[in-house]
Amino acid sequence: MATKRSKRASKTSPARSGRRGKARAAAAEAKPKGVVNAWEQDPGDGAQPSGGQVIQRPVPVLREQPFSIRIVNPASAPEAKPHSPGTADFRYWTAAEALRRGADFWGALLPGTSWEVGSILPVDLDFGIDLNAFYDREGLKFFHGSAAGRTVFSGESPDVVCHELGHAILDSLKPQLFDAASIEVAAFHESFGDMSAILSALQLPSLREGVLAETGGVLHRASRLSRLAEQLGWAIRQSVPSAVEADCLRNAVNTFFYRDPDTLPTMAPATALSSEPHSFSRVFTGAFFEGLAGMLAMKDTKNEAALLQVSRDIGAILVAGIRAASVVPTFFSQVAATMIGVAATQFSAWQWPRRTRPCAPRPSRQARNRRRYRGYSFRWPSMASVSLPSWSMPRPSRSA
Ligand SMILES: [Zn+2]
Repeated sequence: MATKRSKRASKTSPARSGRRGKARAAAAEAKPKGVVNAWEQDPGDGAQPSGGQVIQRPVPVLREQPFSIRIVNPASAPEAKPHSPGTADFRYWTAAEALRRGADFWGALLPGTSWEVGSILPVDLDFGIDLNAFYDREGLKFFHGSAAGRTVFSGESPDVVCHELGHAILDSLKPQLFDAASIEVAAFHESFGDMSAILSALQLPSLREGVLAETGGVLHRASRLSRLAEQLGWAIRQSVPSAVEADCLRNAVNTFFYRDPDTLPTMAPATALSSEPHSFSRVFTGAFFEGLAGMLAMKDTKNEAALLQVSRDIGAILVAGIRAASVVPTFFSQVAATMIGVAATQFSAWQWPRRTRPCAPRPSRQARNRRRYRGYSFRWPSMASVSLPSWSMPRPSRSA
């Protein structure tokens, strides 16, 4: 693992500020015009590996602030123009678009925050063969893998990209979570990835309009927004159907209720809760999604502008809650409690859903099977580029 670098928060002199101002102006002038094609949310659609919506977006500039990013593989960017799905050039720009969109969303909520890995986050769009992706304090790595004769690239899904970006964002916001030996903290990291995917998706006007039409304005329904990583879920389903949801990898609309993770099995089919962080993360993500839907329900007008505002408000509440939360084994309820405190000053009628509400009896037992997570992946907590499916694996030995 890369060593941790210190945060940069140096004061800026007027002279430097002037130079930066000129540099910003020059960058703005150099900003490319035109559009690229990108997936709106995922290449897949429900249980199908294809059928996702293609949208046109302004050409993303990854080197820009906030949260500068560089795609290191492939080494050079293809021409910035609309490319056809199924091509490497399309995959590059849809990944770049998702990265920039996610970084812009979190950057607005985290002014002055820089990456834990350094000034620029490196991204490898094809690190090898696997149905996975991870963040490891060096950067983001995505993979490709085959299922039923189709090659799936994890970096092609905005859901997966914004999930991994979420790990890097949370690591920059609260670095002490990265190595915390706690099931709930590890699960929260995974939940934050999924929340990042959901909130980043909501920054797209077409997605907001689409999900409102699909749900009739009642957001707490399974939808394109709540279903995460449909295509990757499809690919995994071809080998082990029980490892994923029937129509996606994970669904933020679920009925999982908090239980002491020490009392749960370490692995379980997707229909049940286990203490594996990705599985257990669904409790917090489900409560968050319920809260998001509840905030929209409180709006007089439930249109896409209201949904955009709700996404920003709950993002701000989440960030404030994470900042204030103590890093303890019962981290879910810590964050929920601090979020309620923050929200009470701004959204008096808003309530955190019961499933992780802090008034629930808290487990006091010390967590068993404590592990140190060296990397955060999309499906399982291993930096190893394993080809064996994680659902049949013992816990990865590389996690000390
Ligand atoms: Zn993850």
